[in-house]
Amino acid sequence: DPGGNVRVVVRVRAFLPREIERKADCLIRMDPRSQMTTLRAPNDSDPANTRARARKMIEDKSFTFDNSFWSHDTADEHYATQADVYDSLGEEFLDHNFEGYHTCIFAYGQTGSGKSYTMMGTAEKPGLIPRTCEDLFERIAAAQDETPNISYNVRVSYFEVYNEHVRDLLVPVVPNQPPYYLKIRESPTEGPYVKDLTEVPVRSINEILRHMRVGDASRTTASTKMNDTSSRSHAVFTIMLKQIHHDLDTDETTERSSRIRLVDLAGSERAKSTEATGARLREGSNINKSLTTLGRVIAALADPKASQPSTPRSKLLKRNGEKSSGGGGGGGMVPYRDSILTWLLKDSLGGNSKTAMIACIAPSDYEETLSTLRYADQAKRIRTRAVVNQDSIS
Ligand code: ADP
Ligand code: MG
Repeated sequence: DPGGNVRVVVRVRAFLPREIERKADCLIRMDPRSQMTTLRAPNDSDPANTRARARKMIEDKSFTFDNSFWSHDTADEHYATQADVYDSLGEEFLDHNFEGYHTCIFAYGQTGSGKSYTMMGTAEKPGLIPRTCEDLFERIAAAQDETPNISYNVRVSYFEVYNEHVRDLLVPVVPNQPPYYLKIRESPTEGPYVKDLTEVPVRSINEILRHMRVGDASRTTASTKMNDTSSRSHAVFTIMLKQIHHDLDTDETTERSSRIRLVDLAGSERAKSTEATGARLREGSNINKSLTTLGRVIAALADPKASQPSTPRSKLLKRNGEKSSGGGGGGGMVPYRDSILTWLLKDSLGGNSKTAMIACIAPSDYEETLSTLRYADQAKRIRTRAVVNQDSIS
């Protein structure tokens, strides 16, 4: 189905020590049969939800997503491990990559909700990114044994968007040097891209893991200087897979190119928190820009009538004061170009890509969780138009 909807799944994490300490209540219920996720109203005893109660946020709210991953307590028979998340989402998306489709999986949620755990994981409990890489090279090895007339080419890049700047994570940070930022360009065929971004060829899982570690180290080095960048930056790991197939009967060579994009977004709470002054404020508001624009892009895409200029209803938008930023693929009303992140993810969000969103939630934070679940609920309505990227090259 080329016009598939964005796949939306939700995952709730275990209590952290600080939550156990304050005897937090788990507000989340997941029905494994219906995949319904319910957020229960907080009780009086948990100080973390005092504000929600003061604002009369006292209703149970239910949402249904394509999948719900219960990673709250290992004792539960429905506990979802890192492998379970990969098996029910990552594996299928890698199938699409081998079929020639671009894919994108992004993790959304407040800081501390489990985005990095889900995407990257730990050495003992690897997440979606290392599992995708491992499976990729296993499949290539198996295919090369069976069909010697196919050759493969894999490259990776890793960058972060911080404060509306793009930083190459595969270039080591030079001590006492200001960070070097890259520019964005847009090509008529390939869409928006990061100019001069390092793309390294990789031949094995170990090579890819080594680059991933370099990138993560680069992120961490910067974060100690710049006050926890990792929760304020968006990290985009991309794998480019090229399959070159030589048909021995027809002597024809075809090339399939697909892109696997795995995105660990900045903490969603930044989108609305009121920051202090000065540098903090500037930083906060710029990070707001990418996340708030992502919200506007998702809202515009979720309402296709509002983003189709060919329908008479598009006139209504002008009256609502919406302005086109010229980035809308077909629609023209989607404000992709209003932030670096949404500009770069244009294809993944509303174009040639099969896309999934993982909404990560903490177990006992009513307000932030409700906001994440509403965001995710809106993303369900987005349809993308993925095509097989295949060319005859001889
Ligand atoms: P985020 O990237 O959204 O800020 P993290 O992935 O860093 O959040 O998770 C915050 C903390 O919770 C980390 O200590 C992480 O190891 C832990 N954690 C997150 N998800 C899970 C999970 N499913 N199971 C166990 N621990 C988790
Ligand atoms: Mg993180």
